[in-house]
Amino acid sequence: MSLKRRDFVKLCSGTVAGFGISQMFHPGLVKALEAATEPGRPPVVWMQGNGCTGCSVSILNSVNPSIADVVLKVISLECQETLSVAEGSVAVDHMLEVAEKFKGKFYYISEGALPTAENGAFCTIGVDSKGKEYTVLEMAKILGANAAACVAVGACATGGGIPGSKGNVTGCVPLHKYLESQGIKTPVINITGCPPHPDWMIGTLVHVLTKGVPELDAQGRPKMFFGKNIHDNCPYLPYFEKNVRQKTFTEKKTEACRADMGCKGPLTGADCFSRKWNNGTNWCVENAICIGCAEIDWPDAFSPLYSPVV
Ligand code: SF4
Ligand code: SF4
Repeated sequence: MSLKRRDFVKLCSGTVAGFGISQMFHPGLVKALEAATEPGRPPVVWMQGNGCTGCSVSILNSVNPSIADVVLKVISLECQETLSVAEGSVAVDHMLEVAEKFKGKFYYISEGALPTAENGAFCTIGVDSKGKEYTVLEMAKILGANAAACVAVGACATGGGIPGSKGNVTGCVPLHKYLESQGIKTPVINITGCPPHPDWMIGTLVHVLTKGVPELDAQGRPKMFFGKNIHDNCPYLPYFEKNVRQKTFTEKKTEACRADMGCKGPLTGADCFSRKWNNGTNWCVENAICIGCAEIDWPDAFSPLYSPVV
């Protein structure tokens, strides 16, 4: 038995209803999006590979628009392992059905790295109604080849992240590398971060749905979110220039640059310094340091995390 699209939407959205009030983007955004995506909400399949589900948790924290508004009014969320009630063959059949029925018209969001070792056996997603088992690798190829565009979210899906870091016994690769290796040319947008800011994910989705693929940098990231260097825009830059530095995390000297504690702001491009996190409450450097999570070669190129770089 396979579920109809509409049933899936109900199942997916029912579990996320009630999240959030809006502030970050203009409150009229959801209405504009609703209008832009009429008459039919674009189908979206979100699939998770090797990761920690932190990107899913982060997008659930979206405040404006609320994730409930996005799921109920803007997109048709066909599948999302954390949110969907459906599982096993019902979910696997539905993913295959979407890839076929909406070929070139649905969007594939990829969370987590793709393990290539042992033919992908390190991450299986389920069995279809005919009894065939699917690895995440196999399904990524089907979804990637048939989607209108792919959005890779998080360090694992964009650069391999922690599953793909030094050692990497499961042969984890990011989505764009795997699709390239298979000769699949569907555009891939990379939303880096561990996890990515909810605005980066929602904002990119909004752009893709209303205007198409946004302008990307050399790492495949939307320039509108990742185009500015953190250090160059950091509120603590005047202290860096005067060599006023905080030496330890426990030191009560908050009006100081965090470079000596290993801040990777000088190597990182992201708008955390102005957007901030937790609905604009604070951000990493205010509380500790930037560890460089928005760069595609994180974490290996940024380790050890607490060693100074400037
Ligand atoms: S090193 Fe870090 S804390 Fe210091 S100015 Fe640069 S980004 Fe800000
Ligand atoms: S400040 Fe640095 S570590 Fe924190 S979210 Fe932004 S890029 Fe990642």
